[in-house]
Amino acid sequence: MRAIVFDFFGTLTDPAAEAHRRTSFAGTAAALGIPLAAFWEAMAQSFPDRIVGRYGDTRQTLLTVARHCGAEPGEAELEAAVAAQTAGAERVRRPRPGALDLLDSLRAEGLRLGLISDCSSELVEAWPSTPYAPRLDAAVFSWQEGYRKPDPRLYATVAERLGVAAVDCWFVGDGGSREHDGARRAGMRPVLVTNAGYPGVDALRSDPDSYRPALAIDELADLPALLTA
Ligand SMILES: [Mg+2]
Repeated sequence: MRAIVFDFFGTLTDPAAEAHRRTSFAGTAAALGIPLAAFWEAMAQSFPDRIVGRYGDTRQTLLTVARHCGAEPGEAELEAAVAAQTAGAERVRRPRPGALDLLDSLRAEGLRLGLISDCSSELVEAWPSTPYAPRLDAAVFSWQEGYRKPDPRLYATVAERLGVAAVDCWFVGDGGSREHDGARRAGMRPVLVTNAGYPGVDALRSDPDSYRPALAIDELADLPALLTA
């Protein structure tokens, strides 16, 4: 094994932070002058298209979603909505306790580190300024690539950018988006992070993986022990 490819949400990020998503959306909805329930529903419905870039950047996305909800925000409203959405996204992606230190120590051991994330525009736009960016050698985003997990091209792309063969990669994720089945098919060794210490997070996982990897850990902090086992 020469490289580890991570999932982002619920794996490197704090699973408890998912609870902030609704509050975050409330700020955006208020800025757009839309009821939260309508905005929430429109964002949920558009999720599959948003994460493969079909709604464009965050500004374009919010304008399209607002119009879908019957609103026509002006420039100032749209600007405030983008700011609210951007700030909310930052709260939702706060690092899991210990995750950044873990990445640093894995890298210090000479491992190449990569990321595959099914994500919408907010993460890609903010990525260079996040604490994750300098710690990962390659980051592959569905929004940028135009396809989502478990599409084999995402796994091939991250391996290529890491400069390693897929069979030399482990894939570590919390099991959304059928990501482990995709990793297995790509030749990577899948590792499930169960998040057993975060009751209720299963319900937040989209398109959960029916394939359960042989290797599973409850916490990301358990990964080093698994690597040396
Ligand atoms: Mg995840």
